[in-house]
Parts: sequence; structure tokens; C-alpha cells
Amino acid sequence: MIPERKTRTIHIRDLAIGGGEPIAVQSMAATRTRDVEATLRQVHILEKAGADLVRIAVDSKEDVECLAEIRAQTDARLSVDLQESYRLATHVAPHVDKIRYNPGHLHHHEKTRPIPEKVAFLAETAGEHGCAIRIGVNAGSIAPEYKESFGDDHTGAISQCAADHCELLDDAGFHDYVVSIKDSDPRLVVAANQRFAEARPDVPLHLGVTEAGMPPDGIIKTRIAFEQLLSRGIGDTIRVSLTVPFDDKGREIVEGRSILADIEAGRFRSVPPNFFDGLNIIACPSCSRVENERFIDLAEEVKEMTQYAAEHDLTIAVMGCRVNGPGETDDADLGLWCGPTRVNLKRGAEDVGAYTYDEVLSSLRLELDKLIAARAS
Ligand code: SF4
Repeated sequence: MIPERKTRTIHIRDLAIGGGEPIAVQSMAATRTRDVEATLRQVHILEKAGADLVRIAVDSKEDVECLAEIRAQTDARLSVDLQESYRLATHVAPHVDKIRYNPGHLHHHEKTRPIPEKVAFLAETAGEHGCAIRIGVNAGSIAPEYKESFGDDHTGAISQCAADHCELLDDAGFHDYVVSIKDSDPRLVVAANQRFAEARPDVPLHLGVTEAGMPPDGIIKTRIAFEQLLSRGIGDTIRVSLTVPFDDKGREIVEGRSILADIEAGRFRSVPPNFFDGLNIIACPSCSRVENERFIDLAEEVKEMTQYAAEHDLTIAVMGCRVNGPGETDDADLGLWCGPTRVNLKRGAEDVGAYTYDEVLSSLRLELDKLIAARAS
């Protein structure tokens, strides 16, 4: 049984989230927003699978024009991610039902403008167009001031950042908002969401394990977090993030609904023995920013090629683009982020080089061997 949740109810157009409402399931289009036909097809796949809300990435004026076209051709509830440019909200808000901003990205533009003013601007813009807001905090892009004050306490940094941004929206008189606090490690997702829910039991939570990677591990990681949180009455909407081919994106919704049904029926899965030991591959779920469609195959190839190192406690991150790739590979032992023709290889925060999609696996193997040898010596 999923216990009754105690948050207030907010609305994303006609979709009620929080309180006693059913838990909503959502996902994101992975196609290029500029390819209106493909994105509409993707929205349709997700809706058919049972998505309550579909997120679309918008990075440019051209994307905004395409978003308007997409809006005109579908009734699906749409949400948009603002990346570094918070002012894009003015252009996207007329076409969507929800805007997501990441507090960790607000400092990039207009550096001297105080963060509370930027948040008040977002609240006003969303309010004018009847949009809800998601405060989307991510452990891979912690706002600099929280990084500084919390150091290695990532759980503290991300839960406090989320709580502070709730206060900023409250101060702006805006209440139709949800919070998400994500990481690729489900244990951190559980700890941070629990901590936030204690501080703000009234705020609806969007749950997810980001960069969970490929099935089956991506599903297991997500299930671990959802079981622990939802069974304690924490969580009002969910997103399962999986690295799967574009046409298979409906699987995120199907898996999400199946996890919900299992928790509701009290069917909890035991975590496979030593699941958190050994090699951990994290991979982004892909979105319209993916720079080369070979990313999905690359993620699979990395998984296969590195099997020989399965016993070693190492993390390899595979990311689809330059927007989040460089930052979100910093904490991994080895990271790859995709460009249009080359894949950038990193050792921790350090750049190793850029390689063609055909070359990169052998360079990765070389780096992996060096790391294993260094740990053995
Ligand atoms: S890393 Fe880039 S391509 Fe992958 S989900 Fe994030 S923004 Fe999209």
C-alpha cells in the first residue's frame, strides 16, 4: 500500500498532483525539438504508453517556434526545461503547462542579478500563463553557493537548496510548484528526498533517479528509490529515466506504472546481492540535445566492453551532449560525453582527449586498464 500523502495539491493544467491524487507518471521526448514530426511521434508514443505529462527540451528561438507548432498539434500536457537561460521562460510559457528550472543553472546569465529576483521573474512569467513550476535540483549541477557551504555533504546541499527555492517561490506568492531532487545514486535520492520532505511536508515531490542508465540496472536503481520513498508516503509524480532507443521511450512509462502497481500491492523486490559493488555504468536517458544518435549504441558498447572490469569499484558515466555532459561526468572515475562527430573522454574532472565514435572504446579501455593497475599497486 502507498500511504496517504500529506502534501498540498497543485495543478498542471487539468492534472492534479499531490495530496490524495493518483501518482502521475511522466517522461521526456528524446527527439530533436526542431524535428516537429519526429517529436510529435515521440509525444504520441509516450501518451499511448500512459504518460500524464511530456517534457520537451528547448534551447533556441528556432526550438521555441517548433514548440509552438507542436503545441498546436497535440493536446498532451507539455513541460519544458529551462537550461542556462532563465529568460527563455517568456518565450516558452505561452506554449506549455509547466516550466522546470534548475537552481544550479541560474547563476550563468546576468551574474549580478540576485537569484531571488530571477526566481520572482520566473514566478511572474509562469503565473501570467497559468503554468506550474518544477524546481529541479540535481546533484550533478549543485548551485555554487551550496557547493561551497556544504562541501561533500551533497544530500545537505541539494535538500537545502530545494527548500530555499520553495521559500523564494512562496515569497513571490507562487504556489503551483513541485520539487525534484535527483542523483544517479538511488541511496542519495532517498536520503535527500527524505530530508526535504521532513523540512517541507507540504510540497509535492517529483521522484526520479537521473542517469539511471540502461535496463535492467537502470530499472533496479529506480525501483530501489521509489520503493523506499513511496512506501513512506513521499512522492507525488514519478519519472523513470532509461537509456533506450528513441522509439522505445514508452518503456519509461510502462516501467513506472509497473513499479507503482507493485508498491501499491506490497510486492517489493529484493535488491540483488552486492548490487552496489563493482563497476557502475551511469548514462543519461537522452533528450533532444543528444548530439549524435550513436549515443545510445555507444552506451551499450561501453557496457559490453567494460564487462571484464565488473569486479572493480569504478563508475563510468556516458552522457549525450555538451550541455550537461562536461559537468555531470566530473564525479565519475571515467566519463564520456558526446559531440556531433567526437566523443570526449575524461578521467575524473580532467580531459583525456576527443576521439571518433569508432576510436573511443579502445581509448576508454586503455584508461580503464591504467586505473585498475593503479589501484592494484
Ligand atoms: S546529458 Fe544532454 S542529452 Fe543527456 S539527457 Fe542531459 S541534456 Fe539530454
